[in-house]
Amino acid sequence: MTAQIIDGKAFAAILRTRIAAEVGRMAEKGITPGLAVVLVGEDPASQVYVRSKGRMTKEVGMASFEHKLPVETAQDDLLALIATLNADPAVNGILVQLPLPDHMDEAAVINAITPEKDVDGFHILNVGRLATGQKAMVPCTPLGCLMLLRDHLGSLAGKNAVVIGRSNIVGKPMAQLLLRDSATVTVAHSRTADLPAVCRQADIIVAAVGRAKFVQGDWVKPGATVIDVGINRTEDGLVGDVDQASVAQVAGAFTPVPGGVGPMTIACLLANTLTATARSNGLPDPEGLTP
Ligand code: NAD
Repeated sequence: MTAQIIDGKAFAAILRTRIAAEVGRMAEKGITPGLAVVLVGEDPASQVYVRSKGRMTKEVGMASFEHKLPVETAQDDLLALIATLNADPAVNGILVQLPLPDHMDEAAVINAITPEKDVDGFHILNVGRLATGQKAMVPCTPLGCLMLLRDHLGSLAGKNAVVIGRSNIVGKPMAQLLLRDSATVTVAHSRTADLPAVCRQADIIVAAVGRAKFVQGDWVKPGATVIDVGINRTEDGLVGDVDQASVAQVAGAFTPVPGGVGPMTIACLLANTLTATARSNGLPDPEGLTP
């Protein structure tokens, strides 16, 4: 069997076109969605992410506000900037690029963002809202994975899903979203016993581990759908958490790296900014952009 490739890059391009059209409709009402991105320090990967977020924000017709602060910035100064952005009506979404420098308390900084502008969905209130089935801002990467899964499989109800990784950014919110869609969810992690056997039960595997080519073909049930969240920079270039060569022989479908989940993350950030803008203006949620 040769697996189907789930083209996240193409899906994300379609999503951005739809978002741009919605931004156009908002412009007729005199509304311009605005996204503020805050970068502290000069981490090279973060700089690349922030640049492409700014570019794509402008491409869909939104306003982009970039704030670059030196690595030695005091936490109080960052909190003061967040307070200013919270109060700014031109800013509908605020994203503080992680990781923050070691002298900062990441949770305190994230929880200082107004939950309604928390387009990363990391604020404790949004985490709680997602967990309890309330209207939340949902983390971008798991939201993108969910969109790809629904598009490929239709209903996820009753499917066995194994999420590998339990981070707050990917693994845990992914598990919440799959539960919400009535999948039977197992969250595996570094202490899981016999991970290959756990994975072999899965109709859906979401790998968010941070280890290059970790998931092997013989861990995969024939026909299963495999979503690869991993981004690992190796001597062979960018590779995911899934061993594409062996998994492609067994799976029904998989997301490639690059060109799978990565482009969906930024598209979902724009989707969340649009949703936040609609909500703050008393408009209904844009269709198909929320879980
Ligand atoms: P993390 O380091 O916070 O979490 C990794 C998780 O993997 C942990 O919960 C850990 O328990 C689990 N793990 C580690 N070793 C394991 C093992 N041997 N067996 C089973 N589980 C194991 O990472 P993260 O932030 O969740 O990111 C995971 C990966 O996804 C990274 O490669 C990251 O770069 C990537 N990522 C991609 C995007 C995207 O847009 N595509 C977004 C976020 C993260």
